[in-house]
Amino acid sequence: MRHWLTLLLLIVLKFSAEAQNPRIFVIDTDFSKGRLTNRQTISLNDVTKLHGHLCDGLAVGFIGLREALYRLYPDSTIDRTNTRIVSKSSPCLTDIALYLTGGRYQFNSFYVSDSIPYMFIVQRIDNGKSMAVKLKPGIKPPAIDSLGSLANSGKLDACSIDSLQRLENKFLAQILATNPTSSFSVDEIKIFN
Ligand SMILES: [Zn+2]
Repeated sequence: MRHWLTLLLLIVLKFSAEAQNPRIFVIDTDFSKGRLTNRQTISLNDVTKLHGHLCDGLAVGFIGLREALYRLYPDSTIDRTNTRIVSKSSPCLTDIALYLTGGRYQFNSFYVSDSIPYMFIVQRIDNGKSMAVKLKPGIKPPAIDSLGSLANSGKLDACSIDSLQRLENKFLAQILATNPTSSFSVDEIKIFN
């Protein structure tokens, strides 16, 4: 009986660790002129180091883009030499876009545009299939954006900045704990060049 309880506890801990630090599997070349054999696991914690901090935008970008990438790569291994992306200009989203897809400005595989009605449009180069992803309406508390704008223009006092941070952290935890299909809509885009 005790063994079963220990096993159950280990399983619960594993799933909650995965929920706190979601991962994605990618494949890259094994050197600068190499073959496509370098399999890696990258996590939200890894992108956090690039971005500088963990925030709600980073979690939203990671979970949302992973959903779109899974639709392009049904075996769940993302080929970072075969993927290009357009991202909205938020630094949280652009860092996610670069890290998860391997898109590069100098290879015309990474673009930034605020004119797209999505967070990301991502394309698998070999078959041209393109997916667009955004948060469903009503998922993000509107106060995060309104208080965020005030903070950007220096009009938020220290107390209000603290409450904005609490709001963002609550939203971050919600995004990580919720089934992505209820938070994000992922649509195939037919015409995308
Ligand atoms: Zn951020």
